[in-house]
Amino acid sequence: MEGLSRSWLGPSGFRGWTTVGDRVAGGFEFQWALTGSGWATYRITDGVSEHSDVPSYCTDALADLLAGVAGLYGSEAPQRVSFDMEPAEVRWVLRAAGKTVTIDIHRFPDLHHSSRLPDGDGECVWSSVQPRRVVAHAVLEAAQGLLDRHGAKGYLKKWAEHPFPAAELGELRRLHRERDDCAH
Ligand SMILES: [Zn+2]
Repeated sequence: MEGLSRSWLGPSGFRGWTTVGDRVAGGFEFQWALTGSGWATYRITDGVSEHSDVPSYCTDALADLLAGVAGLYGSEAPQRVSFDMEPAEVRWVLRAAGKTVTIDIHRFPDLHHSSRLPDGDGECVWSSVQPRRVVAHAVLEAAQGLLDRHGAKGYLKKWAEHPFPAAELGELRRLHRERDDCAH
């Protein structure tokens, strides 16, 4: 964990990251923290540029992300995950091509108007191409780290509207182990 995330303290100097992705060639890292009642903060970086957002519990954000990443296995259809920033929408668009994933993050000013808009109408705020294995591993580790830190009860207490997405985590872990040949 040495050296990870030290330069990034979050919107209010938050330091409580529960987990960090493995240090990998290319520098991809993903972290997810519960930063307030019904709010989470995530940070994503590919070692070149980084991006963070603060999704609210209006959607089951972490569950949707885990399901979106799981959807990359066996399908090349784009996986879309929408986060509610109240009022902005941040939409992840994940596209698999073989064992590579393109991640494009689009931002729209108002979710109530943007939910039917095409991705291209939003501003692309972050983009990267990564091995699927690396993305899945980092997202899994971030979710598992939350569970380790808070437990299911603690997670629900902080996230309030939705329980910890254990089923989604289990499914992504199964796919990642089987298809990416990762034993973690
Ligand atoms: Zn792994």
